[in-house]
Amino acid sequence: HLSKRLEAVAKFVPEGTRLADIGSDHAYLPANLLLNQKIAYAIAGEVAVGPYKNVLEEIERHRLGQVLEARLANGLAAITPTDEIDVVTIAGMGGHLIADILAADFKDDKHYATLILQPNTDVDLVRRWLMEHGYHLQEETMIYEDGHYYEILVAVIGKMHLDEQALNFGPYNLERKPSIWREYWSKELKRRENITAQLIQKKKADTSAFEKYQEQIKAIKEALD
Ligand code: SAM
Repeated sequence: HLSKRLEAVAKFVPEGTRLADIGSDHAYLPANLLLNQKIAYAIAGEVAVGPYKNVLEEIERHRLGQVLEARLANGLAAITPTDEIDVVTIAGMGGHLIADILAADFKDDKHYATLILQPNTDVDLVRRWLMEHGYHLQEETMIYEDGHYYEILVAVIGKMHLDEQALNFGPYNLERKPSIWREYWSKELKRRENITAQLIQKKKADTSAFEKYQEQIKAIKEALD
């Protein structure tokens, strides 16, 4: 049984693909996809020994030794060309780290057919990395679980151009304005409005911090509009 967050990631994995889940920890995601026979082969990559052992335990527990391989490696170095991986998932990390992991392995023509990414933070940075490295955003969604909002990006090989607004808020989100996304940005707006109100009270409305918040408030209002 997957968390709502990982369930949302799993839904985007195309049937029958060869998957590498990087930063897999317990390997819940690939194990679930294999047990449900949605895919037939997966790699679970881990850089840390503790989580790598969790992967091994999960493989053992479900007798997945034939179809799920644990690899102790940094980022995409877990994957070799003979694995013929076409989908990479990276979930539950900061956007900076996800972009770093993708960048560390990037060579001009090296692309995986599909990337499914769930950055906990700095989603704009991940969208920018994709845009600048030959990926096209195919789908995006936001979910809410246990007090947190999570964004999931699905990218395929191709071109796209996103302006600042689309990088920050997501091109499909801006088009569809889904209710969870609205809820998240409405809260973010409120939070910033409270901060600026406090700054005014403290007579700090002339600071650069105040200006920064004002700009963000304007941008959020435009996006929600
Ligand atoms: N992907 C799972 C999920 O979404 O529930 C686990 C997320 S867990 C918070 C992040 C995992 O990423 C940790 O187990 C950590 O060891 C691993 N990790 C961090 N940097 C990594 C890297 N460069 N290469 C592989 N794994 C990494």
